[in-house]
Amino acid sequence: MKYQSTRDKNLKASSAQAILNGLAPDGGLYTMSSFDEVKFDYTTVLNMDTMSMSTKILSKLLPDFSEAEMAKLVHDGYTGRFETDHLTPTVPVGEDFILELFRGPTSAFKDVALSMLPRLMTASKEKLGVDDEIMILTATSGDTGKAAMEGFCDVPGTKIIVFYPHGGVSAVRGNFDDAQTGVKKIFSAVSKDQLLEGKGVRLSSANSINIGRLAPQVVYYYRAYADLVQAGRIQPGEKVDYVVPTGNFGDILAGYFAKEMGLPVGKLVCASNANNVLTDFIRTGRYDKKRPFYLTSSPSMDILVSSNLERLLFLLSGDEQLVAKLMRQLTEDGAYEVPEELKEKIQSLFWAGCCGDDETKQTIGRVWQEHHYLCDTHTAVAWNV
Ligand SMILES: *Cc1c(COP(=O)(O)O)cnc(C)c1O
Repeated sequence: MKYQSTRDKNLKASSAQAILNGLAPDGGLYTMSSFDEVKFDYTTVLNMDTMSMSTKILSKLLPDFSEAEMAKLVHDGYTGRFETDHLTPTVPVGEDFILELFRGPTSAFKDVALSMLPRLMTASKEKLGVDDEIMILTATSGDTGKAAMEGFCDVPGTKIIVFYPHGGVSAVRGNFDDAQTGVKKIFSAVSKDQLLEGKGVRLSSANSINIGRLAPQVVYYYRAYADLVQAGRIQPGEKVDYVVPTGNFGDILAGYFAKEMGLPVGKLVCASNANNVLTDFIRTGRYDKKRPFYLTSSPSMDILVSSNLERLLFLLSGDEQLVAKLMRQLTEDGAYEVPEELKEKIQSLFWAGCCGDDETKQTIGRVWQEHHYLCDTHTAVAWNV
């Protein structure tokens, strides 16, 4: 299976190349052109432990790696680094369940993917016979920075630079969107003018614009489903709705991947904080980033340009020219509107809602009082929605 740019079908890459490059040379994101080659019978993984499940799903999504190779990468990436080798427990809270993604080394859900990405990158380098050092450029609004630095520390042949928004520990003057736009601009300048040619170093990214960051996130949708089956809460085949606290649209897109790979996923509910550009988009089909940027109590979701939405637009329309046009409009006018048919497709899969900081706080209090479960601000947004 080949990956391709969301903006140009002639820009193809194997999974290893896509991981190494991070972003396609035209600024698009690497995506499969259809899900045909990644579909499989989900019942075959329901009784697996999380490591075997990861191996199976990741070698489907990243076919340059055999199951045996992937098993080793998964083992090296995860063993002993999480509180439990189950990695991501699903716990009952009232009538619903919370999938706990914070049991990794930096307590960020991004640990699940960022424990794997460095291994995938060095393995891709070996596979492609690349000797260059990999310089990772990463923008963060909150949790990605520490999880990425933890993941890449002591990984030979890699270095990492993290861009923190203003007001953080050290700062880019601007918010997360400015930082991520900066990262993307550096990528396109370097690739256009071949600035690093022959210098023994090349760039990649640890943001969810990298397919190697996204793929490991698909696994926990299966993990949660299998846990619900094992707990007797659902029968295999019953659909489960997932409510996902969303910023860059990476996590929820991984849920969509799981659905298209064959997991019985019902609605994917996109939960936003006061930066509710996605709520409006999913409800109306118009994406408009020209609005105030709020710094909220759920900073990992303080994002107005959700990069991974581009992958969804491509996968649902199959039309790179449309995606290239919409992304140009977003850069030039700060807004775009998708055709009616595409909007209907999106609405058949996703539902969206948002809540502000006051409601977030009240939700944390209510969940504690009613269920004695203490949730963080991001989970609280999802719970409220
Ligand atoms: C990163 C993050 C999010 C947002 O995830 P996206 O993949 O960017 O949509 C939500 N909650 C927490 C705790 C996070 O760290």
